[in-house]
Amino acid sequence: MSVRNVLIVGGGFTGLTTAIALAQRDVQVTLIDKAPAWARVGHGLTIQGNALRVFREIGVIDEVLAKGQVENSVMLYHADGRVMAELPTPRTGGDDLPATIGALRPDLHEILLRRAEELGVRIRLGLELTSFENHADSATSVLSDGTTETWDVIVIAEGIKSQTRPKLGITEDRQPTGLGIWRAVTSRLPEMTGGMAFPPDDTGAYKVGYTPVSDDQCYIYVLCPPERPDNGLADWQEVRRLMANYHGELDYLRESLGPDTFLNFQEIEWIFVEGPWHSGRVVALGEVVHAVPPLIAQGAAQCLEDAVVFAEHLTQDGDFEHLLTRFHSRRIPRIKGVVDASLLLAKWELHPGTPDADPGRVMAESLVALEAAP
Ligand SMILES: Cc1cc2nc3c(=O)[nH]c(=O)nc-3n(C[C@H](O)[C@H](O)[C@H](O)COP(=O)(O)OP(=O)(O)OC[C@H]3O[C@@H](n4cnc5c(N)ncnc54)[C@H](O)[C@@H]3O)c2cc1C
Repeated sequence: MSVRNVLIVGGGFTGLTTAIALAQRDVQVTLIDKAPAWARVGHGLTIQGNALRVFREIGVIDEVLAKGQVENSVMLYHADGRVMAELPTPRTGGDDLPATIGALRPDLHEILLRRAEELGVRIRLGLELTSFENHADSATSVLSDGTTETWDVIVIAEGIKSQTRPKLGITEDRQPTGLGIWRAVTSRLPEMTGGMAFPPDDTGAYKVGYTPVSDDQCYIYVLCPPERPDNGLADWQEVRRLMANYHGELDYLRESLGPDTFLNFQEIEWIFVEGPWHSGRVVALGEVVHAVPPLIAQGAAQCLEDAVVFAEHLTQDGDFEHLLTRFHSRRIPRIKGVVDASLLLAKWELHPGTPDADPGRVMAESLVALEAAP
């Protein structure tokens, strides 16, 4: 089919990467986001090799690697600080890319934004999609400023809390995982290379980990129950409390937290839409249709893969329904593997001592399965 103009709703990793991948194929792209301005602060992320492969394909790999800290293995610790194991991380992007990097979300967003602008993507902030209407081979959008325009395709990349999802006939909604998470960006010593620590038995605590994001900074995550207790503690004190039984490098990290630390808490939800992701010419991508607990750090990677595989299909010759069906059939088994593994790991996190639980094996197997191109 010949696609000339596309509207993308949402400027997170999914929307921006889709915009870039389409613009690289000479499609005119307009991207809107409801945010009145881009947030310049945010947390760290672990970016796996298969996400780096997408960054290479869209022409930003050098900038991304320059902002990230490479990690090719993960250290596992007991809560008391003793090393449990060092596991090599599968190179899901191929041998010529690092296994993973740690980076700050706003740095990556900034890189994608620059690339989208360089390719002529028109970006408009403070706007939402109010409604849409499908026609035989186009779709019309009505935006929150009252303007109406017709497009070959509209992409919904609004994230897990998407308001448009039910309007596409998708009945699945986001669901609780039973877990919450605290994240903090803080300082680290040069010799601290990242890892995760498992809770002491019978304390009811969950996993804690950290990933370097620069020469002297890292982000910490602390898994916990899904509700923030009303215990009178400030956020930084609450995270220190949750980390109290962890030692070794985590002693240093815990003590580094204070009133000025950038911290946030959120409940972890998930969604997986196995059925069609589109209605007529309006297509949902990324976390609108698949979001997982971040236990193998594949959420953003799967969103990025959606973007490039979608652009590849959308710009081929052929019938739209047929191309979209092929795109969908190519993505579902791969994403299902990530969803199943992530939910199983979340279940084991919630039920320590489950017989036969083997998180290391499940993580490794699910990542090895991603080594093939998406
Ligand atoms: C705690 C946590 C840790 C994570 N860690 C990792 C990790 O280490 N590695 C990894 O790969 N992934 C990780 N992820 C997953 C990753 O963050 C997400 O998969 C990814 O950010 C989703 O991108 P997205 O663009 O689909 O959605 P979002 O990032 O949610 O972007 C959606 C965008 O759409 C805009 N928007 C929403 N509604 C509208 C509307 N109605 N109109 C216009 N604009 C709208 C929003 O303003 C936003 O800019 C983590 C997720 C969580 C929750």
